[in-house]
Amino acid sequence: MKTQVAIVGAGPAGTLLSLILKQRGIDSVVIERQTKDYVLGRIRAGVLEWTSVEILRAAGIGDRLDAEGHRHDSVKISWRAQDILSIDFERLTGKPMMSYGQTKVQEDLYAAAEREGINIVFGASDVEIHDVTTNSPSISCVVDGEQERIECDYVAGCDGQHGVSRRTIPSELKSEFEMSYPFGWLGILSETPPLPYLIYANHENGFALCSERNPMLSRYYVQCPLEDTVEDWSDDRFWSELTERLPSSVASELVTGPSIEKSIAPLRSYVVEPMQYGRMFLAGDAAHIVPPTGAKGLNLAIADVHYLSEAFDAHYGGGDSTKLDGYSETALRRVWSSVRFSWWMTVLLHRFPDQTPFEQRMREEDLAYLTRSEAAQRSVAEQYVGLDL
Ligand SMILES: Cc1cc2nc3c(=O)[nH]c(=O)nc-3n(C[C@H](O)[C@H](O)[C@H](O)COP(=O)(O)OP(=O)(O)OC[C@H]3O[C@@H](n4cnc5c(N)ncnc54)[C@H](O)[C@@H]3O)c2cc1C
Repeated sequence: MKTQVAIVGAGPAGTLLSLILKQRGIDSVVIERQTKDYVLGRIRAGVLEWTSVEILRAAGIGDRLDAEGHRHDSVKISWRAQDILSIDFERLTGKPMMSYGQTKVQEDLYAAAEREGINIVFGASDVEIHDVTTNSPSISCVVDGEQERIECDYVAGCDGQHGVSRRTIPSELKSEFEMSYPFGWLGILSETPPLPYLIYANHENGFALCSERNPMLSRYYVQCPLEDTVEDWSDDRFWSELTERLPSSVASELVTGPSIEKSIAPLRSYVVEPMQYGRMFLAGDAAHIVPPTGAKGLNLAIADVHYLSEAFDAHYGGGDSTKLDGYSETALRRVWSSVRFSWWMTVLLHRFPDQTPFEQRMREEDLAYLTRSEAAQRSVAEQYVGLDL
């Protein structure tokens, strides 16, 4: 096979990139390790920045998002199960957020890719990237037992945190920045009506978050020790712990029910620099990971794809490679800003096993300042809804 851009990974980043490139007349082939059903079965992010909504709309997949997504204009933060602060994004920044699950985004992307006739090769194994420092890179893989090779002009590494693309960059040419947090998030999905608002809680037992997917699907999280397994957490234990971490006025509004999904995710911040090597460009989780506090992971992947597709468009459409050359620098500015915000939210709202009473007072003072100061709320709101591209 021969194509202009070979894309490794058909998650949100890879599929969206192929779709935008197709609309700009640029040919691509997408290589995905998993089956389509497997990718669609992953339960992950659910909150979109308004910029992401606009990028998805411009890519032609806004219809269901607009019909089924739920706009939310504010977020609440509670602490000590007593005080509640509400940050009104719409009033402070003029922008709302949109609740719309990653599973639906992925379904919409695959449906659009199919309509556009984009070639996504599922179930590819032994994927390897070759010769990205030459003018003729290629990708080799095994599909249905047959060895395949895709020759291309460029490679887009959109293969997530455990893919091959990042590993293709020699270690002496990359810098990695990392922080692992000493706790995880236990998340459940339940087919119950969500609270009418999104609320983050800082409590002496740990963090909690009440979020939503749609009017009959709720997503809840509690901070838990990294050693815990889902077997340690019956539904009863989960609901009782969540209720305890929330102010009683909020807990009394909770509608509980059986969980339909339950998982534990570790929390980590990670960035690799640069996000390009020769003719290969990294986008999404292949280049960075943020803890889910602040809902930036999927949004950053969408922003990377925006910058990268603009760069390919300028190169193929106008012969101008300046944006391709500067892709890593451009994308990393937004990446670091979101990494910092997610880290700050995580530190503010969680209980660390070895934290001192002084550190807890500092968190409480941050929350008190946020309550008193509209300028502080505007700063948080601006970062939460996402800076302009
Ligand atoms: C459990 C969990 C919960 C999350 N919750 C949130 C949240 O609440 N909010 C938020 O904003 N973000 C969240 N995220 C992060 C968000 O889901 C990711 O940022 C987003 O999926 C990034 O998209 P991506 O396309 O870059 O990577 P991915 O979605 O990981 O897609 C990469 C694709 O590449 C494929 N691949 C991997 N290796 C290869 C290979 N060698 N060859 C070919 N294909 C390969 C993978 O199968 C996958 O389909 C969560 C992530 C996880 C894991």
